[in-house]
Amino acid sequence: MNDKRRAALRVLERIEQAGYEAYLVGGCVRDLLLDLEPKDYDICTNALPEEIQQIFERTLPTGIKHGTVTVFEQKIPFEVTTFREEAEYTDYRRPTSVTFVSQLETDLSRRDFTMNAMAQDRFGTIVDPFGGRKDIQDRRIRCVGDPRQRFSEDALRMVRAARFVAQFGFALDERVSEAMHSLKDRVQHLAIERIVAEVEKIWGSRTPARGLKVLWEHDLWAHLPVFKDGFWKRVSDQWIEAFDWVRDRIVSWSYLLYLGHIAEQEVRSVCRKLTLSKVDTSNIWNCYRLGLNWHGSINEKPLKLYLLQYGFQTTYRAYQLMELIHLRKPYSSMEQVMREVWESMPARSIAELSLDGKDLLQYTNRKAGPWMRETFNHLLVRVALGEIPNQKEILLEEGSQFAAKHSNTVDSTID
Ligand code: ATP
Ligand code: MG
Repeated sequence: MNDKRRAALRVLERIEQAGYEAYLVGGCVRDLLLDLEPKDYDICTNALPEEIQQIFERTLPTGIKHGTVTVFEQKIPFEVTTFREEAEYTDYRRPTSVTFVSQLETDLSRRDFTMNAMAQDRFGTIVDPFGGRKDIQDRRIRCVGDPRQRFSEDALRMVRAARFVAQFGFALDERVSEAMHSLKDRVQHLAIERIVAEVEKIWGSRTPARGLKVLWEHDLWAHLPVFKDGFWKRVSDQWIEAFDWVRDRIVSWSYLLYLGHIAEQEVRSVCRKLTLSKVDTSNIWNCYRLGLNWHGSINEKPLKLYLLQYGFQTTYRAYQLMELIHLRKPYSSMEQVMREVWESMPARSIAELSLDGKDLLQYTNRKAGPWMRETFNHLLVRVALGEIPNQKEILLEEGSQFAAKHSNTVDSTID
């Protein structure tokens, strides 16, 4: 047993010692049954948040309105949530109110799928009122209660179903699938952040393609906010299966936008609407435009120019995207090959050239101006491609010749 699990059981014990009930609940119980290492251990209890705050020295009121307090045990944080019931889903987003209840089963009954609606006490006894264990054995995703009602309450559950298919390779129960078909348009009201969080979990799953297939088969893309602005027609399975060849979320996002027919000039605004970070947006945009415009074979001059312009990481990502677009599995050895090409280049940036601006100005007897950047770029390309050595005298000579030849264009902007 690892430290985190031991600490979680200690949290249960401390709550019990104070006279309340406490259980591990939800995803962690499911993961333990699947022999997977839970990422985090959620805890539920009949103690009220104020009572939990009194039991532990250090707490954070993470989601106190919804009954969640973060407690620390051996410096590890755990979310402890009071048994609750959710009432009135008015906008398909979040429950409008929660009511604390005293029964564990009531709390379990609000949960989405049977495999997520189990609890486990500190001695390992599992509370499983909806047959979650059997469904895990049968590798089946089944709702707690009537799927139509559960998806009407919170449409995100349809996206979560797809995510769990991707993670565990389970099949959707027929009633779940039927309910998804008939209620697909409900997802249009969902907050985009919640959807993106599930899609990110699909990228990190074992078989993203399976989960994505569920979204396509049930025509959810065409109804999901932001995505529905693209052109999400049904794509054939082989295009979807290619997602399983990717292990980089930036490439997965880029390929997804490609299949959604997002125009190159729209990519950045779509990423922003998806609430992706600035860094992600810029990485996806670079991967997309290089991947879609990739010309030339690998291991030759164009590759070196791409590496110079975009750097190793973006170039490798764009290479993968280019292969996916041609329905080819990217070579896994290509990462190493590209890295070696990149590292063997005699210079990778202007800063690495054995020449500085002052020397060039003196040698050419010119005024500083935009011509310098162009000249340095020219020198960088020649050195990087191995066409001239990275030696000061040679760079001065080559640089002054270049500047003289291009004086019409490069000098015209001076003064
Ligand atoms: P992961 O291992 O990826 O965290 P998880 O099942 O723990 O998966 P969370 O989003 O962390 O997923 O949710 C924790 C638990 O809360 C779930 O196992 C489930 O019992 C319940 N839950 C989460 N989202 C919903 C929802 N939209 N509707 C009903 N129950 C939900
Ligand atoms: Mg979780």
